[in-house]
Amino acid sequence: MHVLVVEDDARLSRLLKRLLTQDRHVVETALTAEDGLEIATSSIELDAVILDVGLPDRSGFEVARLLRRKGSQVPILMLTARDAVSDRVEGLDAGADDYLVKPFAYEELLARLRALGRRPPTRKAMALHSGPFELDETTRRVTVAGKPVDLSQREFSILECLLRRPGQVLSRDQLLDYAWPYGVALTPNTVEAYIHLLREKVGNSAAAHIETVRGVGYRLREG
Ligand code: CA
Repeated sequence: MHVLVVEDDARLSRLLKRLLTQDRHVVETALTAEDGLEIATSSIELDAVILDVGLPDRSGFEVARLLRRKGSQVPILMLTARDAVSDRVEGLDAGADDYLVKPFAYEELLARLRALGRRPPTRKAMALHSGPFELDETTRRVTVAGKPVDLSQREFSILECLLRRPGQVLSRDQLLDYAWPYGVALTPNTVEAYIHLLREKVGNSAAAHIETVRGVGYRLREG
């Protein structure tokens, strides 16, 4: 899972990152509500947010409320310091899916995370299309201008990532995070190489829709 930990206690944050990474999760951390909101609203593929209630700039309740208001449906596991009923109710009201009272056993945190991951995805797999591209996430079939094209798993993931955000510039790092989910050590050049392969496979006229934005990344031209 791709997990964001929003926790201002730097020691706990580092510990969670280390433990979750050992369990093959991809972990991002934020020490403030502001950073947490920034990452949660800009991350393409976030499977869960572990959100502390007591943060320096805003409360975790507020963060959950803002995320829901922005339309995010990412599962939220709230960390609360007190086992007060009012805290739990406020957390769930704010849009959290579950909560854990500090101090907690790490095994319990993992179990809660797994439970959140098992919930039916709110975003259903579907057919994505833009310009000449059509990609079916269920059958993993890709057609370009109506003709089927055989893509490798990575090429498919990169095209899928671009098709999820047509018209938006995606950085090489965003594409790396998306297409290589377990944080394998790679350089942004890897993305360039795969974009090159992808363009060759889809043919010249479709390739022109995959635009390079110099110094930033790539964008799928709309229409
Ligand atoms: Ca805290």
